[in-house]
Amino acid sequence: PYDVLIVGGGPAGASAAIYAARKGIRTGIVAERFGGQVMDTVGIENFISVPYTEGPKLVASLEQHVKEYEVDVITEQKAASLETGDYVEIGLESGATLRSRTVILATGARWREMNVPGEQEYRGKGVAYCPHCDGPLFKGKRVAVIGGGNSGIEAAIDLAGIVEHVTVLEFADTLRADDVLQRKARSMANIEIIKSAQTTEVRGDGSKVVGLTYKDRTTEELKQVDVAGIFVQIGLVPNTEWLKGGDLNLTRFGEIEIDSRGATNLEGVFAAGDVTTVPFKQIIIAMGAGSTAALAAFDHLIRTPDP
Ligand code: FAD
Repeated sequence: PYDVLIVGGGPAGASAAIYAARKGIRTGIVAERFGGQVMDTVGIENFISVPYTEGPKLVASLEQHVKEYEVDVITEQKAASLETGDYVEIGLESGATLRSRTVILATGARWREMNVPGEQEYRGKGVAYCPHCDGPLFKGKRVAVIGGGNSGIEAAIDLAGIVEHVTVLEFADTLRADDVLQRKARSMANIEIIKSAQTTEVRGDGSKVVGLTYKDRTTEELKQVDVAGIFVQIGLVPNTEWLKGGDLNLTRFGEIEIDSRGATNLEGVFAAGDVTTVPFKQIIIAMGAGSTAALAAFDHLIRTPDP
C-alpha cells in the first residue's frame, strides 16, 4: 500500500505528489490524464514568476518535476470508488484496487459548455471560460458573457474594467445573481444585459471569434451581437460523480467539503484544488492547496499507527 495516494494529476495533484515524496513516504498518483485542465489552456499569464507560458509546456515541467522523485505515476486510469477502513481503497474503472494509508482527491473540475456550433472550433480563439485568465486578452474590445448567475455577473463587472463593452446574455427571463452584483453591473455604463436570450451559435472568420447569434426567446427572433470574445459562465462542474452517494461530504454543487488543512469529513481522506470548496479556481491556488493537503496527510500519518 501507499502512504499517500493522489487521485488526479493536475496542478493540485502534481504539487501534492512532490510535497509528499519529499517526506520520503510511499507516494502514488493515479490520473485519467496528467496535466488536467492545464493541458487545454493556451496562454497562461498569471502563473506567478513566469510572465508567459503555455499549458502543455507547463504540464511538461510539472511532469518532469514529479519524476525527480520516487512517485508511482499511473495514468489513463479512472477512479470509480472510494472506501475507507484500515486503508483507504480506490477502486479503478479497470477493476483494480489501490490501497493507501491516506488519499488526496484532486480530480478537478470542468467548465459547462454551451454545446452550440462554433464553440469547440473557436475555443481559445475568442471562446473563453476564465475571466481572471483571459480577460486582459480582450483589452479595449467588445465581449459577451454567457450566463447571468453570480459567476456571469462577476465576470461582467470584472471585464467591464478592461474591455470596451460587455453584453451579458441570460437564458431565463430573470438574473440569478445576487442583488448587490446586479446593482453594481447596472451602474456600469459599458454593461448591457439581455434576458431570455438563448445563444445558438458562435460566429468566427475561420481564425477567431467575430460574434454570436442568439434567439430572443420572447419573439423567437434570431439576433446577432458582434464581439471578439465570449466568456461562457454557465457553471463549473466538479469531477465528483464517482464519489456521490458515499460517505464523503459534498456540497449541493458536488464540491468536496474541506477545512483549512484540506481534510474532508473522512479520516485519512484529503482533497485539493478545483474539486473542492476552495473559493477561487486557479493553477497557483490549486498548487498551494495540493501542498497543503500533502503536508496535512503527512501530519496525519505521523500521528496514526501503521495498520
Ligand atoms: P485539474 O487541472 O482539473 O486536474 C484534474 C486531474 O484529475 C486530471 O489529471 C484529470 O485527468 C484527473 N481526474 C479527473 N477525474 C478523475 C478520476 N475519476 N480518476 C482519475 N483521475 C481523474 N488557471 C490559471 O491560473 N491561469 C490560466 O490562465 C488558466 N486558464 C485556463 C484555461 C482553460 C481553458 C481552463 C479550462 C482552465 C484554466 N485555468 C487557468 C484554471 C486551471 O486550469 C485550474 O484551476 C487548475 O487546472 C485546477 O487544478 P486541479 O489540479 O485542481 O484540477
